[in-house]
Amino acid sequence: MQIIRGFRDILPGNIKLWQRVEKEATQLFSEFGFNEIRLPILEKTEVFARSIGEVTDIVEKEMYTFPDRKGDKLSLRPEATASMVRAYVQHKMYADDPVRKFYTIGPMFRRERPQKGRYRQFYQIDVEIFGVASAYIDANLIFLLNELFSRLGLTDLKAHINSLGCPECRPGFQKALLDLLESSKNELCSNCLRRKDTNPLRTIDCKNPSCREVLKDAPATLDFLCKECEDHFSIVKQALKQQKVEFIEDKTLVRGLDYYTRTAFEIQTTSLGAQSAVAGGGRYDLLVKEMGGPDIPAIGFAIGFDRLVEVMETLGKKVDDNLLDLFIVPIGAVAMEKGYHWSTDLNLQGIRCEIDYRGRSLKSLMKRADKLGAKYVLIAGEKEISDNALVLRNMNTREQISMGVENPVADIIEYIKKND
Ligand code: AMP
Repeated sequence: MQIIRGFRDILPGNIKLWQRVEKEATQLFSEFGFNEIRLPILEKTEVFARSIGEVTDIVEKEMYTFPDRKGDKLSLRPEATASMVRAYVQHKMYADDPVRKFYTIGPMFRRERPQKGRYRQFYQIDVEIFGVASAYIDANLIFLLNELFSRLGLTDLKAHINSLGCPECRPGFQKALLDLLESSKNELCSNCLRRKDTNPLRTIDCKNPSCREVLKDAPATLDFLCKECEDHFSIVKQALKQQKVEFIEDKTLVRGLDYYTRTAFEIQTTSLGAQSAVAGGGRYDLLVKEMGGPDIPAIGFAIGFDRLVEVMETLGKKVDDNLLDLFIVPIGAVAMEKGYHWSTDLNLQGIRCEIDYRGRSLKSLMKRADKLGAKYVLIAGEKEISDNALVLRNMNTREQISMGVENPVADIIEYIKKND
């Protein structure tokens, strides 16, 4: 049997980097005052359709949607923000204090065309702040991303930032864009022809060469910002400059989801080819209200966990596999019984210890100890047991010491500590 196309197993050889990223991220988030929240991977379809937007690639073509037995339309989540907002509103988390800082980590599902860096089940590290309209929070989130990547030793990443405006200034921009699209409709691809009437903003990052030609002179949201949006964006940029976070002002950055207002950003890498976005996010000041809550601003980002790990692999970042401290070689039933208790005691005391119960010969077990990279081997053969003289071998130096059968655990720990 084979796995579903676009889905992946993450095997022990790779998992170390995932664990390292998760550890750094959760440590950093906790230093910056975020709390973890865990959300279901299945929601009513309307949660996503309402928030992400009916006329977006995600909702139109990419969601795994199906009726449950009672006919309710359900979808596997394609991203986390919608569920996060649903939970914030449903549990009235704004009631005591609207300012909340959350993160969540888990799988998302989109039925996109699979390729390197793009999967149908992928993982995101998602961070959201509710209740603060200030531009300093926008800068703070971009700073946080930058800090995480630098703690992970990643240097080829760059922040792209843009402002998408607000309901005050968006119409002016949209009209200018529509005028351009209307006057060049013969040169647009069929997708953009459709988007022109449904979601014109999305034409801006179309990859089709003919659309690119038309849109190279496209108006930019930045040219239409109202005074408040402009001031907001200036503060974001100023704060980032003061914090020495490098960024590129990118007026073509529009993102694929409808709910963004004002600041939008993406972290891009040069080491992954076409799938260059490692993280993306932005402000969504209208969404909480749109989802049935009070008028509360919010902002967030999602890191593509799979892609982040791939960047680390490309840059040769490695975390050593769990090396083995001690391998116990038991020959015979008595040695196995005693060895069972020794190994458990050693594990409990933090010694990475394995024992082989398959009744193999000394020679084949010594080979396995080598293969596993054990630093020490405890030989408990029939002779060693009857002589009350177990052999502990240091596999590096080949030094051997012997110890009694009754309580070797303390002696083993002492020897390992002394030699490490
Ligand atoms: P988005 O929710 O589309 O803004 O995506 C946020 C981040 O998730 C992107 O920058 C990617 O790193 C990652 N991502 C999105 N879609 C996929 C996918 N199909 N496979 C792997 N990573 C993805």
